Amino acid sequence: MARFIFITGGVVSSLGKGLASAALGALLQARGYSVRLRKLDPYLNVDPGTMSPLEHGEVFVTDDGAETDQDLGHYERFTGVAARKTDSISSGRIYSNVLKKERRGDYLGKTIQVIPHVTNEIKDFIKIGEDEVDFMLCEIGGTVGDIEGLPFFEAIRQFSQDKPRGQCIFMHLTLLPFIKASGELKTKPTQHSVKELRSIGIAPDILVCRSQGPIPQKEREKLALFCNVRPEAVIAAQDLKSIYEAPLVYHREGLDQAVLYAFRISSAPCPALTVWEDVADRIYNPEGEVNVALVGKYTQLEDSYKSITEALNHGGIANRVRVNIDWVDAELFESEDPAPHLEGCHAILVPGGFGERGTEGKIKAAEFARTRNIPYLGICLGMQTAVIETARNVAGFAMAGSEEFNHEAGKKRFETVVYHLKEWVQGNHKVEHKADDDKGGTMRLGAYDAVLMAGSRVAEVYCNTAIKERHRHRYEVDIKYRDKLEDGGLKFTGMSPDGRLPEIVERADHPWFIGVQFHPEFKSRPFEPHPLFKDFVRTAKDMSRLV
Ligand code: GLN
Repeated sequence: MARFIFITGGVVSSLGKGLASAALGALLQARGYSVRLRKLDPYLNVDPGTMSPLEHGEVFVTDDGAETDQDLGHYERFTGVAARKTDSISSGRIYSNVLKKERRGDYLGKTIQVIPHVTNEIKDFIKIGEDEVDFMLCEIGGTVGDIEGLPFFEAIRQFSQDKPRGQCIFMHLTLLPFIKASGELKTKPTQHSVKELRSIGIAPDILVCRSQGPIPQKEREKLALFCNVRPEAVIAAQDLKSIYEAPLVYHREGLDQAVLYAFRISSAPCPALTVWEDVADRIYNPEGEVNVALVGKYTQLEDSYKSITEALNHGGIANRVRVNIDWVDAELFESEDPAPHLEGCHAILVPGGFGERGTEGKIKAAEFARTRNIPYLGICLGMQTAVIETARNVAGFAMAGSEEFNHEAGKKRFETVVYHLKEWVQGNHKVEHKADDDKGGTMRLGAYDAVLMAGSRVAEVYCNTAIKERHRHRYEVDIKYRDKLEDGGLKFTGMSPDGRLPEIVERADHPWFIGVQFHPEFKSRPFEPHPLFKDFVRTAKDMSRLV
């Protein structure tokens, strides 16, 4: 049965709990243990699928089709363990489950209360698959003291009581602010945060303290004394130049040792860290750099494209180059010439997105890449805009567009080379959606097979003609335009197994021009870069040598 590590945060948010959890997962794996990581989010949305990326960063999609918190992306990138629907939950989902049961009469007339009904629902969630792994790491979103977080803190407190002693530990992440005037690291906010935790019955075993510099022995001892942890269990978490150094640095700081000690495990093997050493070596000793323009509409918040920027970094790791990302707001090109913005870049990436805003600019970016022979990777909406560009400028459909844009304008303006997909096949069954369905969870979501055309560039890149990639979209390129688009040079080289849904388009007359209907970025890892990103960055590297 799994041992449980609960990770909480205090003082301020955005301290990198997700990253610390993911790095700890990687360290435990490096010692030969199996792990699973989970995120429990106190907000009331049922899932983050309907949240704007500008609110909450990227929506991460799992193989089994869940729209989840971006921290699950960190978990996967560090551990390589594919996350599942059952690894992410929010208050919204918990309450909606409880209310469904109440309506069904499952509670047999009882009064439904936060304790025990909501807390039981949370505990049941935490337990799912507990026999499958050695360690289950559960991160609680937000910070201790948040009103909506209370049922989660209460649930993990109860959970640790329900389990035999020594089977659960608590790790708390805080901030040690540095006061310049006095030249001191301040421990008081951490003391208060631990006090808050203890007032709800949780005593942390390990403190991970974000600080600008190292933690002097005096402060370490003070924290240990006032927060009731061992001095060795006070772990410094300094800012890193690359997140992929985190497993090495946390190991040097003694995090995995502190975790093993807290569980009284004395016989753990030494961690095998060569994979991470190699990743760090490639990041810190690049042999060149490439500039990739990312033309999107959520460019004000880089977290909106987290998996894409990380997948590009992985492509850089594979090719031993540093990847510089030029963030370009697609809307700019609606009034300005793209040339001055894109001329210095070695490759252009147009990511996914929703709604019409910015799409004319993305179409201009695709045109620029096509006509100037600059490597182009279009992801989801970025594939759709590349198709619209060829349809308009090469295939003679001057009014080509997507049904998504017509819908927003409230009237039909475009010839819909991209249409609203309402039914498709998943495995052996048909999925259907109606136009007036709820917005949440009604997309073609999760991993689907695709068949690649032998001899195509993508088949060469993947070294395979059968792939499985994660999707998140409502609209789809209309196959009836295939012949005209192929005459225009845009070949359909990847299709759904039933041959109905275009999955990949590419140009044979171009150094590297690929559009994919799926999101390859979700499956890329630093130690196993995704083939498309690896090859895209390799081509950008070749371009950088030519310029
Ligand atoms: N908005 C487009 C669709 O729903 C693209 C989605 C995306 O880029 N993830 O098909």
